[in-house]
Amino acid sequence: MRFVIVGGGHAGGQGAASLRQAGYQGEIVILGEEPHLPYQRPPLSKQYLAGEWGLEKVYLRPVKFYESKNIEVRAARAEEIDAQRQRIACSDGETLAYDKLLLATGARARRLDIAGGDLPGVHYLRTIADVDAIKEALQAGRRIAIVGGGYIGLEVAAVAAQLGLSATVLEMEQRILQRVASTPISAFYHALHTSKGVDIRTGAKVESFVGGTRLTGVRCADGTVVSADLAVVGVGIEPNVELAQAAGLPTEDGVLVDERACTADANIYAAGDCTNHPNALLGRRLRLESVPNAMEQSRVAAANMADNAASYESMPWFWSDQYDLKLQMVGYPSDSHQRIVRGDPASHRFASFYFEGDTLMAADAINSAREFMAARQLVGRRIDAPERIGDPATDLKTLL
Ligand code: FAD
Repeated sequence: MRFVIVGGGHAGGQGAASLRQAGYQGEIVILGEEPHLPYQRPPLSKQYLAGEWGLEKVYLRPVKFYESKNIEVRAARAEEIDAQRQRIACSDGETLAYDKLLLATGARARRLDIAGGDLPGVHYLRTIADVDAIKEALQAGRRIAIVGGGYIGLEVAAVAAQLGLSATVLEMEQRILQRVASTPISAFYHALHTSKGVDIRTGAKVESFVGGTRLTGVRCADGTVVSADLAVVGVGIEPNVELAQAAGLPTEDGVLVDERACTADANIYAAGDCTNHPNALLGRRLRLESVPNAMEQSRVAAANMADNAASYESMPWFWSDQYDLKLQMVGYPSDSHQRIVRGDPASHRFASFYFEGDTLMAADAINSAREFMAARQLVGRRIDAPERIGDPATDLKTLL
C-alpha cells in the first residue's frame, strides 16, 4: 500500500505525520519540488527574514522524524497524475503508483504584470529561496518599497524598519489590511507603523517599476515615483490547481473538496491553501490561506485516508506578528458589526469582539492570548452576550 503526498509545505508535512498518527502503516512518499524538508512559511516574513531563526527552526520537523516514521521525502515535482491508473509522473523520471493521494500543492505569489516587473531588485515572498534573496538586499540605510499593505507586506515593513531600512508601503485601497481587518484595526496598525518610521501611502496604485539595469524606484498611477533599492511585492496568492485540473478534478478558486477533504476522485484528497472547501459554520465554501487551515484540514484528510472517518469544521483563524505585537483573529470582522473592546488599545493589549445584532461573529486580539483562546470558542458557538463581554469584570471563560 502506498500513499503519496504532493507538496512539502505545512499541509503536506502535517498530512504525513497525521497518517502515522492515524495508524496507517504502509508506504508514504512526499513529493516536494522545493529542495527542503517540509517547512512552515510564517517565519519567512518574520524571524527567518529578520535573521533570528535558522532553517532548522523553519523546518516543521527534523530529518530524524521522517527516518523514524519511515516517510520518504523526495525532491521531485509531480508532473502529471493519471487518476484512472493511479500513477504520478515525477520530474526525476520515475512514475509512482499510489493507492491514495493527498494534494497539498499550496499556492504561489500573485505576480504583478506591469512594466519593470523583471528588474533585479523586485522580489516576491513565498519560498525560502525568495527570502534568502531578500535578506541579502535587506541592509540598513537602504530604501525598500513594499507593494501591498496586507499582512505579509506589513510584516516585511516591520522587519525592515527594525533593521534600519527606510520603508514605504504602497497600498492601492483606502486603508491597509482592508480585505482582512476592521477599520479600527487597520488604523491601529497604520499608526503603529508610522510611529516606527514606516511611510504608509494608501490609495497608491503601483503602475510600474523603474530602473535601468536594476530597480531604482516604483511609479504610482498619480505619477509619484518612490525611490527604492529593492521592492517586495505582497499582493495575494494564486492556488496551485493546474496539476489537479489536468487530472480532470473539478476546481473553482481551489481544488473542490468535501468536508472530508476528498476531491471528486475517491482516492484523491486535498488540503491547505490549494483547496476550496465547505464550511458548515459559515454556511458557504471558501479558500483559506492560513496555517491553522492547512494543519486541521490535512489532519482530516489523513484520518479519512486511513479509514478513520473525520470531518473538517472549524471557524477560520489566523495570526500575524509585527514588532512586539501578536495579532490573532477569528471569523470575519466587518465594519457593519458592532465592535466591543476589552482592554486599552494604547496599552497594546486589547481584544475586539464583533456582533451582528446580539450574535458574536468575529474577534481579534492583540497581545492577549488568553482572551483569544476564549474568543475562538465563543465565536464558534456564536454566543449572544454583548453586555457581559463588554464588562471587563466578566471572566470570558464563564461565558463558554
Ligand atoms: P504551501 O506552504 O504553499 O506548500 C505547498 C508546497 O507544494 C510548496 O512547497 C510547493 O512548491 C509544492 N508543490 C506545488 N506543486 C507541486 C508539484 N506539482 N510537485 C511537488 N511539489 C509541489 N499563515 C498563518 O496562519 N499565520 C501567519 O503568520 C502566516 N504568515 C505567512 C507568511 C508568509 C511569508 C507566507 C508566504 C504565508 C504565511 N501564512 C501564514 C500562510 C501559510 O503559510 C499558508 O497558509 C500555508 O503555508 C499553506 O500550506 P500548504 O501546505 O497548503 O501550502
